[in-house]
Amino acid sequence: MRNKSEKARLLEELYEEIRRCEDCELARYRTNVVPGEGPPDARVMFIGEAPGYHEDRQGRPFVGAAGQFLTRLLASIGLRREDVYICNVIKCRPPQNRDPLPKEIRACAKWLDRQIEIIKPKVIVTLGRYSLNKFLPGASISKVHGTHAEVGGFTIFALHHPAAALHRQELREVIEADFRKLKELLDRVLAEPEEILSEPPRQLSLF
Ligand code: URA
Repeated sequence: MRNKSEKARLLEELYEEIRRCEDCELARYRTNVVPGEGPPDARVMFIGEAPGYHEDRQGRPFVGAAGQFLTRLLASIGLRREDVYICNVIKCRPPQNRDPLPKEIRACAKWLDRQIEIIKPKVIVTLGRYSLNKFLPGASISKVHGTHAEVGGFTIFALHHPAAALHRQELREVIEADFRKLKELLDRVLAEPEEILSEPPRQLSLF
């Protein structure tokens, strides 16, 4: 098991690599890469889709309107942004905030895989379908939101993307209710004692 300072060092090295990445076309359009932020030993990781305008300008995830909503949703269950790790499937902004392309998702997957491998969160909260489909390919967000699944040693909890819920009252109520379910899950899962592992944890086959 790595300690917090080792994880912090590995993440800093990883961020440097991500900042140099030119493995897909999105590198040409970015102002800043948006690797992610949060405690290196976070037990909960939130994964969104891709940076938008404000994230690209600041190099930080979820700092625009969707981010402010996410911060309020976190506060509604007693969490501060600084308590959790926040990142995206894609580390560079797609032009005009278009959906990421499959080849961009493939090119970027290695960075998120390494973040997960270093941080080893207990619970991964997926925001929207791109993040959900990384762990549960083909799953439909409208069917599985508000539920969790065990995948490769992680507890995956699915949420709608806060940007989708921001301007649609009915989805807003759904995501607020799903956050209450998330709190119940976190209270239960994070209360479990840390496992003493006699052998290395089983890796997700997709990592
Ligand atoms: N939407 C996302 O999916 N990620 C961000 O960082 C901001 C908006």
